[in-house]
Formats: sequence, C-alpha cells, structure tokens
Amino acid sequence: MFDKVLIANRGEIALRVIRACREMGIRSVAVHSTADADAMHVRMADESVCIGPPPGTDSYLSIPAIVSACEITGAQAIHPGYGFLSENAKFVQILEDHEITFIGPSAEHIRVMGDKITAKDTMKNLGVPCVPGSDGGVPTLEDAMAIGEEFGYPVIVKATAGGGGRGMKLAKSAAEMDNAFRTARSEAKSAFGNDEVYIEKYLGRPRHIEIQVFGDGKGNAVHLGERDCSLQRRHQKVFEEAPGPAIDAETRARIGKICADAVADINYIGAGTIEFLFEDGEFYFIEMNTRLQVEHPVTEGIFGVDLVREQILVAAGEPMSFTQDDLKINGHAIEIRINAEKLPNFSPSPGRITQYHAPGGLGVRMDSAIYDGYSIPPYYDSLIGKLIVHGRDRPEALARLSRALSELIVDGIDTTVPLFAALLQEPAVQTGDYNIHWLEKWLEANLD
Ligand code: ADP
Repeated sequence: MFDKVLIANRGEIALRVIRACREMGIRSVAVHSTADADAMHVRMADESVCIGPPPGTDSYLSIPAIVSACEITGAQAIHPGYGFLSENAKFVQILEDHEITFIGPSAEHIRVMGDKITAKDTMKNLGVPCVPGSDGGVPTLEDAMAIGEEFGYPVIVKATAGGGGRGMKLAKSAAEMDNAFRTARSEAKSAFGNDEVYIEKYLGRPRHIEIQVFGDGKGNAVHLGERDCSLQRRHQKVFEEAPGPAIDAETRARIGKICADAVADINYIGAGTIEFLFEDGEFYFIEMNTRLQVEHPVTEGIFGVDLVREQILVAAGEPMSFTQDDLKINGHAIEIRINAEKLPNFSPSPGRITQYHAPGGLGVRMDSAIYDGYSIPPYYDSLIGKLIVHGRDRPEALARLSRALSELIVDGIDTTVPLFAALLQEPAVQTGDYNIHWLEKWLEANLD
C-alpha cells in the first residue's frame, strides 16, 4: 500500500480523498494555487505544496508543477479527483514515465473513452446498446443531410471531442441541418480545438441513467447499479439519486451485467461510469467517464462502500473489497449540488461566507470544503457543496432532504439552495416523473 498520496485537486473532492487516505493510514499531500492558501483541503492534508498562481491552467492543470510536488514530497501516487487532469491521457502517460501511480484507469482507456467516436465504437463492439446514428465522424454537410434522411429528424450534431454539453446542436428538420452542422463544428473547434462532429438520433424525452462500474485491471469487474441524473440544467446535473425511480431490479441486473462485462473484457481498472439515455425501456449509450463522478456519494449511500478507498486499493494492486454478490442495495439516496450562484440567472456569486452551518442528523452527509469566514475565489467552478441524504425509501429520503435544507445556513453569498427548496414542492419531483428536459421547462416557467 502507498505511504503517501498527492491529491491533484481542490475543494470538496480534495477533502473527500483526504478522508479516505486518513482512514487507510495513508499520508496525504494537498496542492494549491496562491488563491487557495487558506483552503480547507490545505488545512486538512498532512502536507501541502503551492503549485502556482490562481488560474487553473497555471496551477491545478500544470503537469510539471504537480509532478514536481510529488517528487518534493515523495508521494507515490496521485488521486486526480474529477475535472482538472482526471481524464487527461497525456498526464497519465507522464506519471507512468516518472513511476508515479495514477489512481485511475490507464492512459489508453482514458484516450479511447475521451473520444466519443472511438468510445461508441468500442462500446458497440462490447455489446453495449448505443444511440442510432452516424458510423463515425461526419465530414461534410452532404453526409450530414444523408444521415438525417436515413435516421429521420430530429437529430443531434455532437462534437467528437465534446464535454460539458458544448458543441451539441439539434436539427429538427432538414432545413435546420445546415445551421446545426456549422454551429456545432465551429463551437467544437473553439472549445476543443477539433471540429469533428458525429450525428445521433435525438431522443425526445429520455431519462439520464448512468451505471457505476468498477474493475481491478485483471479482468474482474462489478457494477454498482444506476444513478438517475435526469434533472439537468444546460446538460449539467443538479440533482442525482440512486436507485433510479424508473429502474426495476431486473432492468438493473440486465444493464449492470452488460456494463460490468464490457469493462471486465478490456481489463479496466478503477471507477468508471457508463452513461445512457433511457427511453421506453431501452438504454442508449452516450459516453463513459473514466473517473470518480461528482455524484458518487449516492452510490456509496445505498451500497455502504467507500469508492475512493476502493480506487486506492486497486491502484496499489490489491483486490477489490467486494464481489457482485456482496453488493446489495439498502434504501435510497439523493444528492443536490449547491453552487455559489445567484438565481434566477445562475450568475457566479463568489465572495466571503459570513456564516456557515452544515445540516446533520441521521442519514445526512454534507461534502463541502467551505467554513465560516472562507472567501470563495472567483477562478474555479461554482460548486461549494453537495448535500447527500439517505433514507429507507425515496419518500423518506425526500423528507430528510427537505429537513436538512432547512438546517443549512450559508450567509454572505448567494447559493442555489432556494431552487431545491422550490423543486421539492413539485409533484413531478416527489414522484420522480420527469425526463432530461423537465427542469429547463420548469425553470422557464418558474424563475423570473
Ligand atoms: P457531454 O460530454 O458534453 O456532457 P453527452 O454526450 O454526455 O455530452 O450528453 C450530455 C447531455 O446531452 C445528455 O445528458 C442529454 O441531456 C443530452 N443528449 C446527448 N445526446 C443526446 C441525444 N442523442 N438525444 C437527446 N439528448 C441528448
């Protein structure tokens, strides 16, 4: 086992990894930009290293700075958290060259899954159901029109290198294809430096269902059921739960096995998430994330396992601590993402937190790195905390979420907390009866 692990991240996820390290008797090294000298992850780690000025590109994304921090402190492994360098194949390759263990999958798996076309091809060949659409990239407008004809409108034009919902354009009819094709390409070019696009049939009212998988890199893999993340704003998740209200045990076992077998087949190591759209009982693969997800705590809640601990175990060459048969669902868990943003426009609201009180009690988990007097820097993403509740069933989890929200105090800045208080009153949220477009429509009608 490692003696020392460096965490190449900040905020709540850095703290999350430090917690797992401490329970495993592993020393932790925090890295931070000059803007984060007073951050909680720096205080909680056993050691810390300043790696550069505030902008992410000069600090948390600086590979030389992070590798040097490892060498200075003698850390043997790096946990990347999510975002930043977590899905950067070049980073993983460089670590391999420096004999530093990356707590995550191989550079090769990151590369394959990071390109949506090779990811889809790989999954299709492994027997995973995919959204019907073009075979690979679509180079010209003529090709795009032909595919629109073949699959029938509406279709969605998507960036091969896409991420974060960018470079995606809907064409409802042939007349809209010209514009959708050109805009998706130019957005992809400016966001990812790669203008290749592909085309998929557009699903009108799917849910977002993702399967958590875990492999040991030696051909063994399990699935940890699904998370339903259908409540989204601008293709970004805001409310996640497990198990999914629309998934029964038989469906879970079927899709779970397909996913576990697929990652076992490629000797995948560590945590991964296979994302699907789910409509009329059918699953359609959209992408695989080769890292820990923001919403992993809901899975931890219902299975009672520590996924970060598990990541560290397999990275150190040890076996997973559970088998598929050990994994039994207990109750229901919900997570909400709390952002430092001002409603109704969700504009960033950095600044000083004058008072913070975290909710507690049975079944409540608050993953956050904020504290009384903490100043949220304006340089990074606006997530300031995740509130996760667990109950014996969905109604109990919802009631607990409502209760926990009423205890939460974050003064001095604006947050998205009022959004959740309002959402919890909605019959559709109470029954779980929505698809990925529901929240956008609700926001249009309710937030002015
Ligand atoms: P990104 O990597 O940019 O997040 P994804 O492929 O994961 O892109 O898609 C993000 C979201 O976009 C999905 O959760 C869904 O809301 C929407 N989406 C993607 N593909 C389709 C599709 N074929 N039909 C309908 N909606 C889609």
